[in-house]
Amino acid sequence: MSLMRLAYASEATFEAKPVEKGVEPHVARILMTSRKNNAKDQLVGGLYYGNDRFFQYLEGEEDAVRRTYDRILKDDRHRNIVTLIEEPLKSRTFSNWSMKYVPLSRDVRAFLDDQGLESFDPAAFTSEQCEKMIELVRNSSQEQNLSTRDDPKSVGDAPQVLSSGMKTGLIVAGVVLVGALVIGGTML
Ligand code: FAD
Repeated sequence: MSLMRLAYASEATFEAKPVEKGVEPHVARILMTSRKNNAKDQLVGGLYYGNDRFFQYLEGEEDAVRRTYDRILKDDRHRNIVTLIEEPLKSRTFSNWSMKYVPLSRDVRAFLDDQGLESFDPAAFTSEQCEKMIELVRNSSQEQNLSTRDDPKSVGDAPQVLSSGMKTGLIVAGVVLVGALVIGGTML
C-alpha cells in the first residue's frame, strides 16, 4: 500500500453567505461531509477558504486519495480546479485531522504579505508557496477560532466584547447612577 499527497486550488461557485457559528454555511457542509468520509478513509489534510478560493491538501493511501479527488473534481460547488501537487509520500505529515479547517487568519495574511501577494489566489502559487501554505495549514491552531470573514481589517481584530445594546444600557445606568449621587448629595 502506498501513500500519496495532493493539493489543489479552486474557485467557489456559490455566493458566500453570512457566517453561521463562525463558518460560511456552504463550507460548513463541505467540512462535515469531508470529516465523515475522510475519517473512514484515513485521509488527513486541511482546507483553506478565502477570497472565494479553496486550497485543499490531502494525504493518505493512494486509492483513497484518488477516489476522494475524483468526487471533489465533480463537485459543482467549485470550478477551475488546478492540481498543484500530486505525488508519492513516504510517511504521513498530518496527525488527527480528517480535514483541518483554516480560516482567514493572521498567519495567512502574514504569508501573503511576506510573499508580496495582494490577494489569496492559490492557483497561481509557485511550488514553494504551495509548500509554505501546507506548512501553515499543518501548524495552524485556528480551529477553535473559526471565521470566514474575508475582510483584512477583521484579521486580528480584538473581539467585540460588548454589543451596542449593552453599551447603551451601561451608559444609561451610568447616567442614572450619577443623577442619584447628585440628588443624594443635595439632600445631605
Ligand atoms: P453525499 O451524501 O452525496 O452528500 C453529503 C452532503 O453534501 C449532503 O448534505 C449534500 O446535500 C451535500 N452536497 C453534496 N453535493 C452537493 C452539491 N453539489 N451542492 C450542494 N450540496 C451538496 N468530500 C470528501 O469526502 N472529502 C474531502 O476532503 C472533500 N473536500 C471537498 C473540498 C471542496 C472544496 C469541495 C467543494 C467538496 C469537497 N468534498 C469532499 C465533497 C465532495 O465533493 C462530495 O460532495 C462528497 O465527497 C460526497 O460524499 P457523500 O457521497 O458521502 O456525500
